[in-house]
Amino acid sequence: MIVVMKKDADRAEINHAVERIEQLGLKPHVIVGTERTVIAAVGDKRPEHKMSLESCPGVSEVVPILAPYKIASREVKPEPTVVRAGSLTVGNKHIGVIAGPCSVESERQILQTAEAVKASGATALRGGAFKPRTSPYSFQGLKEEGLKLLAMARDATGLAVVTEVMSTEDVSTVAAYADVMQVGARNMQNYRLLEVVGKAGLPVLLKRGPSATMEELLLAAEYILDAGNPNVILCERGIRTFEAHTRFTLPLASVVYLHAKTHLPVVVDPSHGTGHTYLVPQMACASVAAGADGLILEVHPDPEKAMSDGYQSLNLDQFEQTMQLCRKVAEAIGKELGSLAPEALTL
Ligand code: PEP
Ligand code: MN
Repeated sequence: MIVVMKKDADRAEINHAVERIEQLGLKPHVIVGTERTVIAAVGDKRPEHKMSLESCPGVSEVVPILAPYKIASREVKPEPTVVRAGSLTVGNKHIGVIAGPCSVESERQILQTAEAVKASGATALRGGAFKPRTSPYSFQGLKEEGLKLLAMARDATGLAVVTEVMSTEDVSTVAAYADVMQVGARNMQNYRLLEVVGKAGLPVLLKRGPSATMEELLLAAEYILDAGNPNVILCERGIRTFEAHTRFTLPLASVVYLHAKTHLPVVVDPSHGTGHTYLVPQMACASVAAGADGLILEVHPDPEKAMSDGYQSLNLDQFEQTMQLCRKVAEAIGKELGSLAPEALTL
C-alpha cells in the first residue's frame, strides 16, 4: 500500500504514520517527493489496514501498489531517482558515462585509460577486479590488487570507481575502494548478495541477467531497496536469444519500458549487449535516443592485448568519437551527456 500524506503533513504526522505501519506488522519506506511525502507500507496486508491508516492524522489517502515490486515502482514515486556517486550523476537530465576496461590489468593500463576517458568526458571509471568468467581457466581478475589500482586511478583523475562484487564475503573489501558496486548479470538473482550490497551503503549498479525478465530485474532491485539502499541503477546489458551474430541481443525497448514502470535510472551496456566493437558506437547513440540515463562502455588502450573482452572494447580514439556522436543525440533530446572535456572547459 502507499500511504499518501497530505501536502502540509508535518514531521510528527509522518512519524506517527510510520509507527502505525510498524504496529500493523508492515515495513515502512518513507519516500520524500518534491510535491508530498508518501510511505510505502510493504508486507502481508489485510483489508482493515487500509481503514486504520486512512484515519491517521495528515494522511490523504491509502492506495494499493499494483506492481509486484513495491519500492521500485513508479506508482510510489513518480519523479525519477537521481543517483550520485562522486563524479557520477545518473538520472533525470544527466547521462552518466562509465568507461574503462573490462578487467583491471596493470597500473599503466588503468591510469592511461582513466586519464583518456576523463579527457573525452566520461564521468566514472569502470574496471573489473573480481571477474566472473565462464571458464575457470580464464583470467579471474587482480582482486584486491585491482581495487587498489582503481583507487589510485580515482586519486589521479577524480573519476568515481564502478567495480563488480561477486560474493557476499567480498562486499566489505570492494566497498572500501569502490564508489558504486556492480552486481553482474550472473548474480542478478543471487538474493543473499543483493541483501548484503543493500546494506553496504554504496550505490549499486544492477545488471540484468541474460535470461531475466523485466519483472525479475525489478524484483531483484527491490531486494536492494528493501534492505535500505535507495541508490540503485538498473543496467540493460543484453539478453540471450537464438541470434548468434551478436554476443547478446540488446533490447532497447527495455529502457522505455523500465522508465514507465520504475523511478530508478537505467543505464545501457552496448559493449556486452553487442559483443563487437564496431557495433558499439551506434548502439550507444541508440541507447541515448531511447532515453538511457547512462552508458557503461568497455574501453582499452590496446584492445587486441586485453585480458578479457577486447573484441567488444573501444580503443581510446573510438571512445572519443563515440562520445562526440552520443553528445549530439543527447543535445537533440535536451540532455547532458558525461562532462565537458577539460580541454573544452579551458578554451
Ligand atoms: C562486465 O561488466 O565486465 C561484466 C562481466 O558484465 P556482465 O555481468 O553484464 O556480463
Ligand atoms: Mn566485460
